[in-house]
Amino acid sequence: MQTTKKDIRTLSKEDLRNFFVSQGDKSFRGNQVYEWLWSKGAHHFDDMTNLSKETRNMLEAHFVINHIKVDTMQHSNDGTIKNAVRLHDGLVVESVLIPTETRTTACVSSQVGCSLDCNFCATARLKRMRNLAPDEIYDQVVAIDQESRLYHNRPLSNIVFMGMGEPLMNYNNVMKAIDMITSDEGLGMSPKRITVSTSGVSKMIKKMADDEVKFKLAVSLHSAVEEIRNHIMPFTKNFPLPELREALEYWYRKTKSKITYEYVVWGGINDDKKSIDALVKFCKYVPCKVNLIEYNPIDDGEFQQAAPEAIDAYIKALENAGIVAKVRRSRGKDIDAACGQLANKS
Ligand code: SF4
Repeated sequence: MQTTKKDIRTLSKEDLRNFFVSQGDKSFRGNQVYEWLWSKGAHHFDDMTNLSKETRNMLEAHFVINHIKVDTMQHSNDGTIKNAVRLHDGLVVESVLIPTETRTTACVSSQVGCSLDCNFCATARLKRMRNLAPDEIYDQVVAIDQESRLYHNRPLSNIVFMGMGEPLMNYNNVMKAIDMITSDEGLGMSPKRITVSTSGVSKMIKKMADDEVKFKLAVSLHSAVEEIRNHIMPFTKNFPLPELREALEYWYRKTKSKITYEYVVWGGINDDKKSIDALVKFCKYVPCKVNLIEYNPIDDGEFQQAAPEAIDAYIKALENAGIVAKVRRSRGKDIDAACGQLANKS
């Protein structure tokens, strides 16, 4: 049954302290509850054993703790794990654990569905249903950290916001989640291990720079030719390349943090010389590196992985221009956990 009680994890520590004072109790109880909710990951008020039964009942009468639930966990042959995560209102998002030899990365979702309409992406076929709350984002990370310890004998080392949704269209909640992930009261992870990946929402890139964020920025560029980029990601008509360039220059001036361009090469779409030259030119505006990402077709439509020669031509041209470029092989293809595939089947 749907409850109208408030999720207690939407309250800040200060809110909790004030709540206890309003109930005629001591403010430090707020600190105790906050610690239970975040550092200790309590799922029930009854877990909060240093509070009296009366206090726990009082909390129960006012609030709920809306933890996510990992509904299904799929294991790929390459060690990748995909979680289908059920939210308190029954909606489902996906997050992925990606292991390599030296690290474990969590790829997390920021929205149910997506606000944007990238033509190559399975998530885009689901309309945006709602933004995720900060605790729903945080919980995906905690679940993957636990799975990493269980299945790979090491803690989670990195986080990328590249799952379902455009993180900069859910800016405040993503920032609050990152605050908790990096806080000593949460997971205490370094912001340098977190990458927020955007499709190029220029005005929010500037806002992040103004907010002096400490995490890394990746931009899913996919083309530095305006018409081709508009065809791949129709919403980019609202964020044209000159505006994106200006936002990225602003970002670098303020943060001194290099940008990573994520780039998929599709046959017949952006595998031509004009596209390669345009990318090389765009890369010269701001210090950057390029990840050329292997693509997994979501159907037999026009978006198909380009021939290896086309990828080689990109690498050669970028390297000749002194730009670091790597090919990123997709992981978890057999469980539809690879780039562009999330929500393909759910
Ligand atoms: S690629 Fe990312 S931004 Fe584009 S539709 Fe898919 S989830 Fe949304």
